[in-house]
Amino acid sequence: MARDPAAEQLNQYKNNLKGHPAVLQTAAGIPIPNKSAILTAGERGPVLLQDHIFLDEISHFARERVPERVVHAKGAGASGYFEVTHNITKYTKAKLFSNVGKRTPVAVRFSTVGGESGSADTVRDPRGFALKFYTEEGIWDMVGNNTPIFFISDASLFPSFIHTQKRNPVTHLKDADMFWDFISLRPESTHQTLFLFSDRGIPDGYRHMNGYGSHTFKFINDRDEIFYVKYHFKTDQGIKNLDVDRAGELSGSDPDYGIRDLYNAIATGNFPSWSFYIQVMTPAEAETFRWNPFDMTKIWPQKEFPLIPVGKFVLNRNPDNYFSEVEQIGFNPAHMPPGIEPSPDKMLQGRLFAYGDTHRYRIGPNHLQLPVNCPYKMMTSSQNYQRDGAMALNNSSGAPNYFPNSFSGPQECPAARVPRMRATGDIDRYNHDSSDDFSQSTAFWRNVLSPAEKQRLVSNMVGNLQHASNFIIERAVRNFAQVDADLGKQLIQGLNKLGKLKGFSANL
Ligand code: NDP
Repeated sequence: MARDPAAEQLNQYKNNLKGHPAVLQTAAGIPIPNKSAILTAGERGPVLLQDHIFLDEISHFARERVPERVVHAKGAGASGYFEVTHNITKYTKAKLFSNVGKRTPVAVRFSTVGGESGSADTVRDPRGFALKFYTEEGIWDMVGNNTPIFFISDASLFPSFIHTQKRNPVTHLKDADMFWDFISLRPESTHQTLFLFSDRGIPDGYRHMNGYGSHTFKFINDRDEIFYVKYHFKTDQGIKNLDVDRAGELSGSDPDYGIRDLYNAIATGNFPSWSFYIQVMTPAEAETFRWNPFDMTKIWPQKEFPLIPVGKFVLNRNPDNYFSEVEQIGFNPAHMPPGIEPSPDKMLQGRLFAYGDTHRYRIGPNHLQLPVNCPYKMMTSSQNYQRDGAMALNNSSGAPNYFPNSFSGPQECPAARVPRMRATGDIDRYNHDSSDDFSQSTAFWRNVLSPAEKQRLVSNMVGNLQHASNFIIERAVRNFAQVDADLGKQLIQGLNKLGKLKGFSANL
C-alpha cells in the first residue's frame, strides 16, 4: 500500500534538501564533534560537568513542553486564505471585508475539547473551530466551535463545567456522575447535550464539520451603526460523521485520525474550504426578540434571521512545524479589528479575559510577538508602549516607552473609536434566565432530526447515562422529558433494557 504524505514527511524533507546536511551545533552555534558519546574521565570513568554539549542538550530537553491548554489540548492546524465573495460593508467597516475578491491570510486550529494532548480524535465531544485572520488592521481571532450554542450561558460556571468533562480528581477517570450531575442540575445545557449525543457529536475528522462563532458579536459600519451578528462557517466538503463503532475502533487503531486526515488532504492538494455566512439582528430587534439574543444556549432561527453570504476560507498549507504553528498559536476572542466588537454575551465577556491570560501563562507575556501570532500584515510590527518581559523579540528599539511623549512615539487612531453606547442597570449577579430552557431543544428534536437520527441519539445517550447514579439518571430523564415526552419515554425504555430505572415513569 502506498504511504500517505504524512508518513512520507521525513523522506520529503530529505529529498527537498539542497546541498549537504548542516553542521551540527549547540544552541550557541558551536560545532559538535561527537554527538553520541558523553565526555568522561577514562573510557569507563565518570561524566565530566564540563561537557557543555551534553548540558546544552539535556537542559533544553527538560524544558521542551509548554503547559497544554486546559481545554482544547489536542488539535490540528493549517493555514490558507479568506476571500470575500459578497459585500457586507453596510454592516461592518472592518477592512478585511472592504471589497469583494479581497483575500486575507488565515491560520486555523481545530480541536477536541475535554481530552489531553495525546487523547483520541474520534471521541464524542464538541470540536473547537478557531480562525486567526491576519488583517491589515491587526489580528481578528474567531474562536468558535462546531456547534452554534454552548452548554451554559454564564462564564462564572465555566471552570466547573470543564471540570465535569475532565477526570475525577481521585480516580483520574472520566466520571459519569460528575458529567450528568452538572448537566441535569443546569437544564440550559439540554440543547447542547442533545447536539453532543446526536450524530454530529463525532464528526468524521475536521474537514466535514461546520463552524460557528456560537456567541453573538457586534458589527459597526462606517456610519457608526450597530448590528448584532452570529457567524456560520459551512463545510464545502459536506457534513460527515463517524458511527459509534467506527469511532471506537479508530480511537484504538488511529487516535490521530483527525490530524492525519487534514494533513494528507492538504498535502495532496485536496484543499478544504468553508463558506462564511452571518445572521444579522438590529439593536431594535434585539430589544423585542423573544429570547435573550446574547444567551449562548440559544440559536437565532434562520427563517427570521436568514444566513447572509460573506465569503469563504480555503486551507492550502500544512504547518512547517507543529509546535511553532499549532501548539504556540494563541487565539483570543478579544482580538477584534475596528468594525467588530463583543456583544454583552456573558460567556463571551468571560472569554475576552481568559484566553489571553491562558496564553500569557502557557507561552509567555510576549507570545503575540511569535511569527504565528503577530499581526504581520500591518505595515510595521505592533506599535505600543509595552516593553521587556521573557522573550521580548520586538522591543521597539529606541522609541519612547511612555505616553504621552514629545519624541514621535506611536500616536492614537481616532478613526478606531467605538460609538458611545448607553448601559444602565443595577449592579448585581443576575442568574441565568431559566424561563425557557427547552423550546429550542424541542424544535431540534421534532423538526430537525429524522426518526433514525433520533434513535441513534437515544442509544448514544443511554449508553453513557447508564453509568451515572440512579438519582442523577432520573433527574436527567425528567429534563429530557420536558423537551418532548417521546424523548423521555425512549430514554426510559432504553435504560430499562439495561436494567436501569425499573418502575420509573417521570409521569409521562
Ligand atoms: P431551521 O430548520 O431553519 O434550521 C435548522 C438547522 O439545523 C439547519 O439549517 C442546519 O444548520 C441544522 N441541522 C440540520 N440537521 C442537523 C443535525 N442532524 N444536527 C444538528 N443540526 C442540524 O430551523 P431554526 O433555525 O429555527 O432552528 C431549529 C433548531 O435547529 C434549533 O432550535 C436548533 O436546535 C437547530 N439548529 C439551528 C441552527 C441555527 O443557527 N438556527 C443551527 C444548527 C441547528 P447547519 O446547516 O448550520 O448545520
